[in-house]
Amino acid sequence: MSPTPRDTPLVALLPDDPYDRELLAQVRPPEWINPPPAGRYNLVVLGGGTAGLVAATGAAALGARVALVEKDLLGGDCLNVGCVPSKALLRAASFYADIGHATRFTGDTQPAVDANFTAAMERMRRLRAQLGRDDSARRLRDRGIDVFLGAAAFVDRRRVAVGGATLAFEKALIATGSRAARPDIDGIEAAGYLTNETVFNLTEWPRRLLVVGGGPLGCELAQAFCRLGCAVTIASHEPYFLPGEERDAAEILAHALRREGIDVRLNTDVRSVVVEAGEKRARLVNYDQDVTVAVDEILAGAGRVPHVEGLNLEAAGVDYDLPQGVRVNDFLQTTNPRVYAAGDVALDSKYTHAADASARLVVQNALFRGRRRLSSLTIPWCTYTDPEIAHVGIYVRNARDQGFPMKTFTVPMSDVDRAVLDGEPEGFVKIHVRDGTDTILGATIVARHAGEMINEISLAMVAGIGLRTLAQVIHCYPTQAAAIRQAGDAYNRTRLTPTLKALSRRWLAWSRGGR
Ligand SMILES: Cc1cc2nc3c(=O)[nH]c(=O)nc-3n(C[C@H](O)[C@H](O)[C@H](O)COP(=O)(O)OP(=O)(O)OC[C@H]3O[C@@H](n4cnc5c(N)ncnc54)[C@H](O)[C@@H]3O)c2cc1C
Repeated sequence: MSPTPRDTPLVALLPDDPYDRELLAQVRPPEWINPPPAGRYNLVVLGGGTAGLVAATGAAALGARVALVEKDLLGGDCLNVGCVPSKALLRAASFYADIGHATRFTGDTQPAVDANFTAAMERMRRLRAQLGRDDSARRLRDRGIDVFLGAAAFVDRRRVAVGGATLAFEKALIATGSRAARPDIDGIEAAGYLTNETVFNLTEWPRRLLVVGGGPLGCELAQAFCRLGCAVTIASHEPYFLPGEERDAAEILAHALRREGIDVRLNTDVRSVVVEAGEKRARLVNYDQDVTVAVDEILAGAGRVPHVEGLNLEAAGVDYDLPQGVRVNDFLQTTNPRVYAAGDVALDSKYTHAADASARLVVQNALFRGRRRLSSLTIPWCTYTDPEIAHVGIYVRNARDQGFPMKTFTVPMSDVDRAVLDGEPEGFVKIHVRDGTDTILGATIVARHAGEMINEISLAMVAGIGLRTLAQVIHCYPTQAAAIRQAGDAYNRTRLTPTLKALSRRWLAWSRGGR
C-alpha cells in the first residue's frame, strides 16, 4: 500500500532550532509513512491532543484496535502551544520576579539582573522537546496504535477519510480541540498579531506588548512577559479579570498585575489598530476615555473556538454549533450514537485535565457500554498567575441564584504561618459547605501554590470527605496547605453551640471539684 499523502503542518515551530527539530521528529516525524488501514477499528480517534492521546492509548492498552489521526502536531495545544510552553515561561518569569523582590530578603542590597528573554524561550523549547517524547508517533505505534498524519474528515456515519485512506469504525471519538478566536478589532488582521500558536516562536522580546483579553491566557502571559522585561498593557472589556471567578479573587489579581507595573485597563474595548512609523497603535476606549497606546506586538487571548470545520460532521450525522462545538449528551455521545466527543471541542471546561478525564470516560462508555456521566466529574481548575487562582465546585453566586443554603469558611493567607514566612500573605482559602452540614460544595483558593492546594479539596469532594474530617487531617507545619485545616477548625468552632459550651464549662468545673 502506498503511503497516505499528508498535509503541511499548520502550526509552524520557530526558530526551527535543534530543540524544535527534536520536537518535530517526535510529534510530526518528517519521514512518517501512514500504515495501511486495518479493517474495522474498535475506535478511530480524530485529533492527537490530550483527549485523543489519552483515549487512544487507554483503548489500545485494553486490547482495542485503534487508529489515531492527527492533522498537525501530536500532543495538540497543551504540549506544543499551550500549557507546556506557557508554564515553562511562567517559571522563568517567576525566577526574575523573585530576584526583583530580593530586598524583602536581603535588606537593601538589590541584585541587578536583567531578564534574559531569549534564554527563557530557549529553556522553554528545550523542556517542550523533552516532554514531547511522551507523545511521539513512534511510541504510539509501539503501543499498537495505527497513527495517521493528515486531516481527518467523516465519509459517512461509520467511516473516516485521511489522505487517500478510509478507516471504518465501530466507534469514533472527535477530539479536535479548539483554537484562538479571531479578535473583532478593526485593522488587526492587517497590523498582525500573536496568538498562542505564534507567541512561543518569539526569540526576541517585544519591548512593548498589548494583551487583549483578561482570561487565564491573557493574565498569565501578561504577567510573564512583564516579568521578562516587556512593558505590558492588558485590556479587557469585562469589569474584572477571569470573569467566571469570585470577585475578590479577581480583585487580588488585578492589584497584583498593577503592582508589577502592568498597565491594567478593564471595561476597555480595543477598537482599532493601525501601523504607523513601524509601531502598532491601538485605540482603547473606556466609557468616555479614548486613548491610543503604541506597542510592538499584540497578543490576542480573547477566547477559544472549537475545531469543527473540515470534519464533514454533517455526513456523520453529528450536530454542532458555534461557539459550543460538538453537541454531546451526558455520556459524551454525539447525535450519532457511534460517535463521541471529548476535550475542548465539546466541553465548556477547556483544560487539559478535563480533556484527559473526558477521554477516559469515552473509552469506558464507547467500548465497554459504560454509563459514566460527564456531570459526575469534579473538575477543578487553576489560573497560574502569581498568586494562582484555583477553583472547584460551586460559586457563591450560583448558590445565591439557586437559593441554595450554603456557609463559607474563609482563611486569609495572612493568617497562615508559612505564607507569612514565605512573604506570600496575599490571598485566601475559601471553602463552601452545605448549610447545617460539613459537605464541601466548592472552594476558591488564591495563593502562590493554589493549584497544588486545590487538589486536597477535590479529593475530599470526590471521596465524600467533609470539612470536619479535613480539620482532623494532620498537615505538616508550616505549610500553606495548612490553611485548609484552619478552615476546618473554623467550621468546628461553629459546632460549639452555647448549650455545648455551657455543658463543657460545667463538666470542667465539676472536674476541678467546683473550685
Ligand atoms: C496558552 C495556553 C495555555 C494553557 N494552559 C493550560 C494549563 O495550564 N492547564 C490546563 O489544564 N489547560 C491549559 N490550556 C488548555 C489546554 O491546552 C486544552 O484544554 C487542551 O489542549 C485540550 O486538549 P484537546 O485534546 O481537547 O485539544 P487539542 O490539544 O487542541 O488537540 C486537538 C488536536 O486535534 C487536531 N485536529 C484538529 N482538526 C483535526 C482534523 N480534522 N483531523 C485530525 N486532527 C485534527 C489538532 O491539530 C490538535 O492537535 C492552555 C491553553 C492555551 C492556549
